[in-house]
Amino acid sequence: SLTLLVPVALGMIGLTGWVLGGLAMQPIRDSYNQLQRFTSNASHELRTPLAAVLSNAQVGLLVPLDPQQQRNHLEQIVEAAKSMSTLVSNLLLLARHSGRLAPESLKEVDLTSLLKEQADFYSSQAAEKQLSLKSDLPEQPVKLEAEPDLLRQAVENLLSNAYKYTPAGGSVQLRLFTQSRQAVIQVSDSGIGIPQADLPHIFERFYRVDTKQSRQAGGFGLGLAIAKQLVEAHGGQISVTSVVGQGSTFQIELHTRKVTEEGY
Ligand code: ADP
Repeated sequence: SLTLLVPVALGMIGLTGWVLGGLAMQPIRDSYNQLQRFTSNASHELRTPLAAVLSNAQVGLLVPLDPQQQRNHLEQIVEAAKSMSTLVSNLLLLARHSGRLAPESLKEVDLTSLLKEQADFYSSQAAEKQLSLKSDLPEQPVKLEAEPDLLRQAVENLLSNAYKYTPAGGSVQLRLFTQSRQAVIQVSDSGIGIPQADLPHIFERFYRVDTKQSRQAGGFGLGLAIAKQLVEAHGGQISVTSVVGQGSTFQIELHTRKVTEEGY
């Protein structure tokens, strides 16, 4: 009867509205939560070096110190300030380059020579850490449209991780090859590897597998998030495979076709 149908119909409409409303709100709620987590993590990371600056400066002001003690306190202040400066640069990088790069900021880049320069730069650092760096780059140029500094930064983050997480005596390999219309960059290491359970998270901001070890190595857990964001800003993709105790391979894939061919 009608008396029963009307409330049921109204109830259905209400329920549908509630479900749809809830669905529409979910992405907003998610990004709000993400932003909140990000702000809270960033503040937390700043707090430690800031406390070091404050306490060392206060001691210097309150207690009479001999020159050597004074020097120690100043050194700790400099270290903490450097750490904050790195964090702030990383945060700025993340804030500036979200979304695709504007076509006018791209230029033709030869990946082969860009990577060759990086390999040369890193091979001296490798020797210092008793690591070997092998590079396997093509003879010919591999050209694409990119913002070279940002691309260099993405690769640098992978290379510096490879060094950080590979014990002395190990090896790091930098490869470049083309596959259909993709340029593929691989950074492999024979290092500590990443547990399977952590793999889905390592590109998240502030995520670290071993917080203590990473922090000691000067890491904030932003390097991979930045690399991912910069690669995606170029329309590319980043991925990883890893075996604990054997090593990791990070892979960047980029289109080699010109931006104009994509028509945007
Ligand atoms: P971090 O500054 O801590 O290195 P990243 O965002 O660069 O931050 O990396 C996130 C985490 O992923 C690191 O803390 C580390 O645990 C892990 N990781 C990254 N690269 C490697 C690697 N090549 N080998 C082993 N673990 C790695």
